[in-house]
Amino acid sequence: MSTNTNNTEVLLEENKQQESSPVTNKSTFERKALLILSAVFVAVLVGAWGYAMRVRESVASNSMTTHADPTALIEVERLRNLASSQLDNSRAYFLLGSQTIYDKQKKEKESLMDSLAVFEKEHNLPGVSDVVKRIKDIETKNQEFFDQAVEHREKKTESKIVGQFYQARTSPLRSQLNEAFDDIIHLHQIEIDKAKAEIKDAANQAETQIPFGMTWLTGSLTAIFLGMAFLVLRLVRRQSFQLAQQKRLYEEAKKAVQDRDETLFAISHDLQDSLKMISNTAERMATTPQGLNIVESGEFVKSTVATIEGMIKDIRDQKNMEMNGLTLRMDQLSIDDVLDNARLLMQPLAKQHDVRLQIDSVNPPVLAFYDNERVMRVLANLIGNAIKFSPKGEKVVVKVRSDQKFVNISVIDNGPGIPASQLPNIFENFWQAKKTADKGAGLGLAIVKTIVEAHGGTVQIQSQTGRGTTVTFSLPRRRPVGASLKKPNVTVKHSGATAEWQ
Ligand code: ADP
Repeated sequence: MSTNTNNTEVLLEENKQQESSPVTNKSTFERKALLILSAVFVAVLVGAWGYAMRVRESVASNSMTTHADPTALIEVERLRNLASSQLDNSRAYFLLGSQTIYDKQKKEKESLMDSLAVFEKEHNLPGVSDVVKRIKDIETKNQEFFDQAVEHREKKTESKIVGQFYQARTSPLRSQLNEAFDDIIHLHQIEIDKAKAEIKDAANQAETQIPFGMTWLTGSLTAIFLGMAFLVLRLVRRQSFQLAQQKRLYEEAKKAVQDRDETLFAISHDLQDSLKMISNTAERMATTPQGLNIVESGEFVKSTVATIEGMIKDIRDQKNMEMNGLTLRMDQLSIDDVLDNARLLMQPLAKQHDVRLQIDSVNPPVLAFYDNERVMRVLANLIGNAIKFSPKGEKVVVKVRSDQKFVNISVIDNGPGIPASQLPNIFENFWQAKKTADKGAGLGLAIVKTIVEAHGGTVQIQSQTGRGTTVTFSLPRRRPVGASLKKPNVTVKHSGATAEWQ
């Protein structure tokens, strides 16, 4: 019972350890790695956006930085026409003397000068202001020729002559003006070509930068994605492994609790049976003492109490054995001593089950080293099983053989036997064949093995279904190594258990 509680505790402890086990620590590592990769993922995306924006801006700013405005060329042509028209109209005025033409050329001149000022301001390319100054100088010269022509006109010189004079003087100015306007157009053209080259350059750059950026982005995202997928897979695998482990531990804990409950039930059942037998005997002794064999009844009560004590000792021994190892009090004794005690103890049970118990005496007597009380428990368990499982009227025999090193004691019955498939489990704590689960706690053979192995001996079972079972255990004839007759309380180890010499 307590062993099962212990199992449950061990399993719960194991569960607790699971919580802080390397498996959980590894999951924490994977979670952290996933978090970091997610942050890298976001950083890469933000970086890619930043990069794309920078490329876009550099292309846009390149196309915007040009000072050349193609509409300026239209304006230049307008100015050229205006200047030319003004010259034509001035000449026409000297030929025709029309006030309207005079006013028109005057207006054209004013408009030309204003427009030139505006143009210079709006399209201030390097070199343009020089050219504009040249145009203004030409216009000043033109004005001088105009004033001279006006003088001639006032002196009543013939219109045709004044016209020719003006034409002759302004003719070079006309070509100078044309040159100046051509120069402005040329300056603009240079600037436009430069801007076109810059735009082309920026476009070319963007053309190489974008695929490079895309390759880099795709590579980084693929690496991050693969890393994340790998971590997620590992996490899922680890978690399913943890789940399976938790399930296993839960099942084991459940089984341990179930085993403990079954054992408690079996022990209480056994105790109840034994107590009932004592109570019945006492009742009969009190009510009808005349029909009773008092000595036999007393032996029976003693034997039943010894069975209960034995059961309690088995449980205590097995628990002690698991916690601290078993401490034996070994003496050099005749094997008959323990066999006689066993006969006395087990006879009433045999009688109660209507089974004959035959324990052969050893002749000549054989000595062995053993703990009398513990070997008594071994015999009580084995003979008890043999009696329990024997059909009525059958015989249980205890035989002794000895060789140089060991005394071998066999308990033989003609009961139902144990199927071969069940033999490997038979020494486990609380193991019972399903069919016999109501006949004990399943602790007897486990304690038998513990005690015998603590002595340095072995236990063997031979069984055939339908024909019976023979359990043989051995005890050492000589004292165990390390044990000394003169040194009391020396402990020696046997199969994990401790034997104490006294
Ligand atoms: P318990 O007898 O208290 O149940 P044991 O550990 O002594 O526990 O025995 C374990 C199981 O082995 C028994 O429940 C029974 O099924 C089987 N067994 C042991 N001895 C015999 C036997 N002599 N004949 C048949 N079955 C046996």
